[in-house]
Amino acid sequence: MATASIDTARREARPVSESIEKAPDIRPEQVAPLGVGLLGKTSLVGLSRERLQQALIGIGVSERESRMRTSQIWHWLYVRGATAFDEMTNVGKGLKAQLAQAFTLDRPEVVSEQVSRDGTRKWLIRMAPTGAHDHNRGAEIECVYIPGPDRGTLCVSSQVGCTLTCSFCHTGTQRLVRNLSQAEIASQLVVARDRLGDWPGRTPVRNAGSTGEAGRLVTNVVFMGMGEPLYNLDAVIEAVGVMSDQEGLGLSRRRITVSTSGVVPRMERLGQEANASLAISLHAVRDELRNELVPLNRKYGIDALLQACRDYPGLSNARRITFEYVMLKGVNDSDADARALVRLLKGIPAKINLIPFNPWPGSPYECSDWSRIERFSEIVFQAGYASPVRTPRGRDILAACGQLKSETEKLRARARMMLEDGMGAEAVYAGADLDS
Ligand code: SAH
Ligand code: SF4
Repeated sequence: MATASIDTARREARPVSESIEKAPDIRPEQVAPLGVGLLGKTSLVGLSRERLQQALIGIGVSERESRMRTSQIWHWLYVRGATAFDEMTNVGKGLKAQLAQAFTLDRPEVVSEQVSRDGTRKWLIRMAPTGAHDHNRGAEIECVYIPGPDRGTLCVSSQVGCTLTCSFCHTGTQRLVRNLSQAEIASQLVVARDRLGDWPGRTPVRNAGSTGEAGRLVTNVVFMGMGEPLYNLDAVIEAVGVMSDQEGLGLSRRRITVSTSGVVPRMERLGQEANASLAISLHAVRDELRNELVPLNRKYGIDALLQACRDYPGLSNARRITFEYVMLKGVNDSDADARALVRLLKGIPAKINLIPFNPWPGSPYECSDWSRIERFSEIVFQAGYASPVRTPRGRDILAACGQLKSETEKLRARARMMLEDGMGAEAVYAGADLDS
């Protein structure tokens, strides 16, 4: 359970200058074969085409045959959502048996699911164990689904924890940090579709929102869960490839948004190789303040960041960059800040997303008052930016930004305590309603 004192201790023990630009060195692949489940078999779920083909060649399928088999299995995995090799009717009996012997179609485990009154769903997902560094238990991440009137957005994680230490973000205070593999990232979309009943022929769960033009509930993906995606860029690029494959999961790359705190030298490659939409966690208009809020700014200042934005491949009025701006009371929320923000972004095709700050235990900030947010948004609106305030969603289940995982740990601790007291977990989640 995360507490204020642990957060403070960790921040003191890890000076900001040392933590800048340090990507975690531990990748799951280095510790154990990808996606090894309890039985020691590799799961094929989430793998890219290349990795799937290599896996088939690895069990003796010839190079020539492997291409066709990859396409068949790909279809079952990512169009049909198959959970058993038996479902693969166009794959021969012999190969199916061979596949079942070497691999599984296991998904990462959903440890808990919370459903908000507004239909937002938050899943705590446990990855297959990768070794001692995650206590042989499997790292846990959170994934949130937010239904809207004409879309359904899935918020995915790219790392367990984060090496950066933004002062307003709870994820940055987490101890265990490792990169997720490309399969672990892509499989979050598969898990979400499983839980929502979002595969052809399955019945969608109640209150799941409406489907988009492709007939699916999940229409958009945002990399705004745990971690800094640009510090795990290879895996993120591959995972975006899996999610956007038109013969598979089929999302449009335009509808996949990667959010970064500003890892300037990696932005161009993200644009070129993932061709995803970009979101920038700006949060301040002056270097002095941004240095404090987003310590990475000491390395890549606002000027360099905005230049990298202007140079972002594919940028146009039809494809704008989203600038995220967290509203912190008395810190970055004055009229002068709002005016400086629109001046700063002049000439960049941009959307501005004002995010009400979500406090966490021991956090050194408060959320701006609603009247202040309205005034700020009015100035931004007058400058030509539409609907800029992001409404907090899933507040009753703590699914908001910067509250992922750590709050769940707290809930689970409470659940344990209450179970020991002979109470059911429902009571805990009912008691977790912070909205009212
Ligand atoms: N590491 C990436 C993506 C994950 S964070 C990044 O920083 O962009 C997703 C968004 O949530 C970022 O804009 C981040 O600044 C914001 N955020 C983090 N903690 C928050 C909090 N407590 N309240 C509101 N927004 C927060
Ligand atoms: Fe990491 Fe993003 Fe949180 Fe900063 S805001 S600590 S980069 S997850």
